[in-house]
Order: sequence, then C-alpha cells, then structure tokens
Amino acid sequence: MTVNSNARESSQANARSIQDLQEQIEVLQSQLKDLQKIVEDLESRLFHSTDRYIANCPSCQTRFDMLAHHYSIGLFDNLVYVKCPKCNKALPVKGGSTGEISVIQE
Ligand SMILES: [Zn+2]
Repeated sequence: MTVNSNARESSQANARSIQDLQEQIEVLQSQLKDLQKIVEDLESRLFHSTDRYIANCPSCQTRFDMLAHHYSIGLFDNLVYVKCPKCNKALPVKGGSTGEISVIQE
C-alpha cells in the first residue's frame, strides 16, 4: 500500500462521513419541523382552552377571565354570576355540556 492510496482512502472516508453528517442534519431538520408543528398545535389548543373562559362585558366591553372573577352561585335559579372587573356589573353565566361557559348576553 502506497502513501498515495492511503491518502485517497482517507479522503473518501472523509467524503463519506461528510455525507453522513449531511444526512443526519437533514433528518434533524425534518424532526425539528415536526416538533415545531407539534408546538404550534399545542399553542393553538392552549389559546383556545383559555379563550373558552374569556368574557366580554355587555356594558363596558371589557374582556376578562370568568374563572378569576366569578363570585356567587344563585341558590334557586342555579345561575353562576361573574362580576365585571371594570364596571362591577353582575353577569349571569351559562355553561355548556362541553365545559364551555359564556356570559348570557342581554
Ligand atoms: Zn363591565
């Protein structure tokens, strides 16, 4: 075996390992793309799940979190009220079977 053939083999090995690295980078890039898609999906689900509890006050149009501002449950009519944090208006809330709640608009 001559020095020349050694050098050629080693440069072929280098070329192979560079190709291997490029293939690994492509695999990682596609995995990264998949993960970004999953994160985007989780973000939109999180956004919609918190959005279910956001109400608009019919009086002053303030947007607020109903879970943070509920204050009483009616004994006879089984109504839950939320109080608008800005104008303090009591707003009856209706609940759906899917867990969604919303202010009853007058
Ligand atoms: Zn209000």
